[in-house]
Amino acid sequence: MPKRILITGAAGFLGSHLCDRFIAEGFLVVGMDNLITGDLKNIEHLFKNERFEFHHHDVSKFVFVPGQLDYILHFASPASPIDYLKIPIQTLKVSSLGTHNLLGLAKVKKARILVASTSEVYGDPTVHPQTEDYWGNVNPIGPRGVYDEAKRFMEAMTMAYHTYHGVETRIIRIFNTYGPRMRLNDGRVLPAFIGQALRGEDLTIFGDGSQTRSFCYVDDLVEGIFRLLMSDYVNPVNIGNPQEITIKDFAEEIIKLTGTSQKVVYRDLPQDDPKQRQPDITIARKILGWEPKVDRAEGLKRTYAYFKSLSKDELYKKDHREFEKK
Ligand code: UDP
Repeated sequence: MPKRILITGAAGFLGSHLCDRFIAEGFLVVGMDNLITGDLKNIEHLFKNERFEFHHHDVSKFVFVPGQLDYILHFASPASPIDYLKIPIQTLKVSSLGTHNLLGLAKVKKARILVASTSEVYGDPTVHPQTEDYWGNVNPIGPRGVYDEAKRFMEAMTMAYHTYHGVETRIIRIFNTYGPRMRLNDGRVLPAFIGQALRGEDLTIFGDGSQTRSFCYVDDLVEGIFRLLMSDYVNPVNIGNPQEITIKDFAEEIIKLTGTSQKVVYRDLPQDDPKQRQPDITIARKILGWEPKVDRAEGLKRTYAYFKSLSKDELYKKDHREFEKK
């Protein structure tokens, strides 16, 4: 009997790659998405596959899935600082009410559930690199609070269902991830820079560009998720690429990659923008035997090829940032 898995956020960047992976592994995949930030284009190639079904549903409302379920992956959530400003209440609800609904579903179906937490639980970290036992430095009422606190609640609720109800739970803390199917217009730094280069605009660095991030290629992340789901480790696990870079140097890499003749321009740093971020992946290495395989040069090449293949319409589609300024 093939195993059946529910993947929420299925039409999103990560969700769609997870659907592909679990289909390839021989699973029956139930994809669920309310499509406020997801895009059916990311999964349309699966619609002909008889092992795939799609439910258009908001998981913040009661979730009903008929039949057997062996696994649940909760990957539904807006995931860019621009989204948090534009849709703060949905961001809060999907990781709080949505997580509660899915934990309830996991309990009745006796399914194992893995929830997508984030390096944002560490906030603007005072410990570097970030280890899983660091409790974080989060501003609950800042612009990122709607995401960070909902994800922290998600972790608390997940652990409570594990200890109180005995539900099999897994928690991944995802660091910055990139790859094909990222939304070009979501305001995140990589699609922002590549989009700007493709449109012949200057690259916008927020602040002085000395803040750091560590970028993980999506295939590596998906492998980490797969291994964590199949493991018996209940505490949170960081998955990310420890190769750290300043945003200024990252802009230079994109300029070289795209061959653009544009320059960089400096804009105000958004409130509560973390100054540094790098995962400590000792636990992932030890427990899952996992580490990233795709370096940034290779990952960026693959990602650029994807963005270059998009239509002009998509390239010039209205950017959320214009709403924010009004
Ligand atoms: N950033 C930037 N220019 C942009 C978009 C983002 O300099 O056009 C910076 C942003 O201020 C942050 C970093 O790039 O320091 C990563 O931003 P992103 O929104 O991708 O994710 P975050 O890691 O902050 O959640």
